[in-house]
Parts: sequence; C-alpha cells; structure tokens
Amino acid sequence: MADTVFSKIIARTIPARIEYEDDLCMAFHDVSPQAPVHVLLIPKQPIRSLAAVQEADSPLMGHLIVVATQLALRLGLENGYRVVINCGCDGGQSVDHLHVHLLGGRSLAWPPG
Ligand code: AMP
Repeated sequence: MADTVFSKIIARTIPARIEYEDDLCMAFHDVSPQAPVHVLLIPKQPIRSLAAVQEADSPLMGHLIVVATQLALRLGLENGYRVVINCGCDGGQSVDHLHVHLLGGRSLAWPPG
C-alpha cells in the first residue's frame, strides 16, 4: 500500500495532535475539524479502506470502536457524538488509510450531505 499522510503520522515523520496511542491504533485531532471535537482514529496496520477489511480484522475493528467510545468519554462528549467511516469515492474518503471520525461537541445534523 502506498504511503499516506496517516502512515507518516504513525511514523512521526509529520506532526499531529496525538490524543491516544496503543499497539494497534492511534488517535489524533483532525487538521480541519468539522465540530468542536473531531478526532481521527486509525489502525496502525495500513488497511486501505473499510471495503478492504477482512474477517480476520474483526478484533481490530472492534477495538477501534471501543477506543472511540473511551475517547468520547475522555473528551467530554457526554451529550452524544457521531462515529463515521467514509469509504471510497462516493463515501467521501480522501485518505487511503482506514480511519474512524469521532465528531462531537455540538448538535450534528442528519442526513449528511
Ligand atoms: P476522509 O475525507 O473521510 O478521508 O477524512 C480524511 C480526514 O483527514 C479529513 O477530515 C482531513 O481533514 C484529515 N486530515 C488530512 N490530513 C491530515 C493531517 N495531516 N492531520 C490531521 N488530519 C488530517
């Protein structure tokens, strides 16, 4: 898989506001936040997109969701939040490294654009 801006953040060759890290994943603040809290959670394993996820990735995907809920608590999103994974062109994915958006801190409209 080609190097992306996110693999460079994992390698710490470009800076990011890192909020959380463990052996499997890293979370950092989005450079162009769409809400008062906008964190991206990425697996360290470079999976291209949600469409590339395999059955064997189930524990990793579960871990990402659990960490997202823990980050939401830590970041004070007790009124609720949104967890989004954009996939492919029509899904609005712009970085080819699977990432979970955690958005909150304001009331979020539905449906998305
Ligand atoms: P998506 O459109 O779902 O692929 O989301 C990609 C997200 O990555 C966007 O919200 C961008 O603002 C964010 N992003 C791109 N480059 C960086 C960076 N260097 N640091 C933090 N967030 C970034």
